[in-house]
Amino acid sequence: MKNSEWIPTMCYQCKAECAIIARVEDGQLKEVRGNPNARGKACVKGMSGVSLEYSQDRLKYPLKRVGARGEGNFERISWDEALDIMAKKLQELKDRGDAHKLTANFFPHSITDPKWRFLDAYGGFINTALPHCDSAKILAFIKMVGGVPNHHIPPAWFTVPKGGIMILAGRQAFGGLEDAAIPNDILDAKARGAKLVVIDPIFTPEAAKADQWIPIKPSGDTAFFAGMIHHLITENLYDREFVENWVREGDFEKLKGWAGDKTPEKMSGICDVSAETIKALAEECAQAPSVGVDSFKGVMLGNALDFSHAWGIFMAITGNLDNPGGQPLPDLVSLAPVEPVPAGPDLHELGWHRTGPNRDKFEKYQFIMEPTWYEAQAIKDGGLKVLITTESNPALSEMGQVEWQNAVKAKDENGRHQLELLVSFEIMMSETAKYADLVLPDKSFFERWELMYMPWWYNFGVGVALRQPVVEAPGECRHANEIFIELGKRLVPEYFQFEDDIAYYDTQLAGIGLSVEKLRKMGGLWSPGTIGFRKYEKTGGFGTPSKKVHLCWEDLEEAPFNQDWPRVELTPEYRVNTEQFPFFLISYRSIYHAGAGQWTHNNPQLRDRISGLSENPLMINTTAAQALGISQDDLVTVESPGGSIQVKANLTEGIRPDCVGLHHGFGATVGRVATGGEGISDNLLIPDSGMNLEWQDLIGGESHVSTRVRIVK
Ligand code: SF4
Repeated sequence: MKNSEWIPTMCYQCKAECAIIARVEDGQLKEVRGNPNARGKACVKGMSGVSLEYSQDRLKYPLKRVGARGEGNFERISWDEALDIMAKKLQELKDRGDAHKLTANFFPHSITDPKWRFLDAYGGFINTALPHCDSAKILAFIKMVGGVPNHHIPPAWFTVPKGGIMILAGRQAFGGLEDAAIPNDILDAKARGAKLVVIDPIFTPEAAKADQWIPIKPSGDTAFFAGMIHHLITENLYDREFVENWVREGDFEKLKGWAGDKTPEKMSGICDVSAETIKALAEECAQAPSVGVDSFKGVMLGNALDFSHAWGIFMAITGNLDNPGGQPLPDLVSLAPVEPVPAGPDLHELGWHRTGPNRDKFEKYQFIMEPTWYEAQAIKDGGLKVLITTESNPALSEMGQVEWQNAVKAKDENGRHQLELLVSFEIMMSETAKYADLVLPDKSFFERWELMYMPWWYNFGVGVALRQPVVEAPGECRHANEIFIELGKRLVPEYFQFEDDIAYYDTQLAGIGLSVEKLRKMGGLWSPGTIGFRKYEKTGGFGTPSKKVHLCWEDLEEAPFNQDWPRVELTPEYRVNTEQFPFFLISYRSIYHAGAGQWTHNNPQLRDRISGLSENPLMINTTAAQALGISQDDLVTVESPGGSIQVKANLTEGIRPDCVGLHHGFGATVGRVATGGEGISDNLLIPDSGMNLEWQDLIGGESHVSTRVRIVK
């Protein structure tokens, strides 16, 4: 009789981090399902975590580089030697007053992540290195309502009432990176009588389920929402009560001034959606009991801050902030601080990776996310000396990847690397690890402890959640958190007086009367109660200085683009080179493959030719292809102002004729599965990420992922 049990933990096959249960039989992970105590869903990517766990590519021992950076030659070393190398270099950096020249790239699973604590105590920076992430959305909501929106997770679709409207604006919600329960939530809400509207240049799986598909021009979403805002105001369809009570005095009058010329007819000329459609959706939204909008950035990402601003204005004037089916505004339960709490470095004072003309304005955008491209510039400028990456893959996953690769190889006049130390924590060899001086074998998410404490959990009424080991780690794998705690004990011991990660989490959990063990026995999930809507009514307002919603961003009035109000034009990359490069390049997502981490890239289940996604052909409209003499599976060259690649053509009616689509995240050159399949990185087509530096700096850390291309057979 085999010893078999189901153990609750948290998935990390994508950043949604769903609650799952793992079946373990005689110490072997066998199966993953959604946790029935948390709505019980896991997607195919989550379930394929089993093959990841037992991949032959798992790293098991610390490695030290023996060849040149990028060659991928390493020798095995001990953890003691690896820790000594790191501690020595970090001490040296600190001693010469350059602690801020340490950056760690990681995805914080908690706002109290031990890695982040180390950086704050030591004086280094975090860079999530996720340009595809939703920094613009977060920034916009902080400016408007004084709080962070639920970002990886969409509106609480399970609360949408009958007649509510759900808008997916360039958000491919069925493709992972959202809780695995989302597809069901959306379809359940539809079954209750809600309406689903999909705004996307591609006829996505979501569009196939939608009541209305609006095939917008890429980055036309700001204009689309501006047209709706104009119509709501001129037709007196806005939520007068909300505006009078909760919008900062004077802002609505200013909004009228801005929206005055944003007629649906004029906006139609930008976004290529008819004025009738813009008006009809605005009218429906005005009458609906709720409207929720889900978007990471804008449609195809280009003008994300403008879109997020327009989207926030729309939500405010339709009275859809923090209501069921609308835009939830999460709050956090109070974990106990681990004293002493490190203050962290002053980013503005010490400098940042930013190199652009607006660097002095950065205090307005103090923000943690910025693209890899900035890291490359900082290495060249001498502003970044030690880089530690965990669960991130900047050598492949980011626009500017080639520039990053060149920067980490660059040497000074004495033949020494400009970047003095590059460390990669990984579970498998990756593009980034190939360049590293030290490659450290991390524990997978099935092998480690982690306390999940982030606003997005709020959506589901979860305050904290526990990731716990369900199986033993292979070889000498150690979790990056354990190593950062050890480095903390060596370098900044006053902040690391606790024994280990469990003791750290125990202290925090004491704030809500729990401990790791108690939480584990409870099934790993703790909730303060119900979600709670319209909290601003009970707490005396929003988190802004005025306690009201700020529609106007007067602090950005002087910026180069007068961004006190959203700019409605298409993103700059789409407005240039229109004749030489007639197509918009857009990226899309599938449930089999999200992001460029080797975790999905190197998973045999997800890359299977029959049941997964094994290649990355160019999605091109059938009519457009025929005009170019291109047939299905023809090899075509895709050229942009920044690069050129060759791919197979995949003809489809499901994309606008002026767009072509590539999946983001292919192109690995390491890993048994990845290198056996086909697929090329779309990043190679994105022009120098610094091309529009003024614009980029302004929006607080977005990389541009937009470009125009031409197709040559
Ligand atoms: S959406 Fe899928 S891959 Fe992502 S965390 Fe949830 S189950 Fe895992």
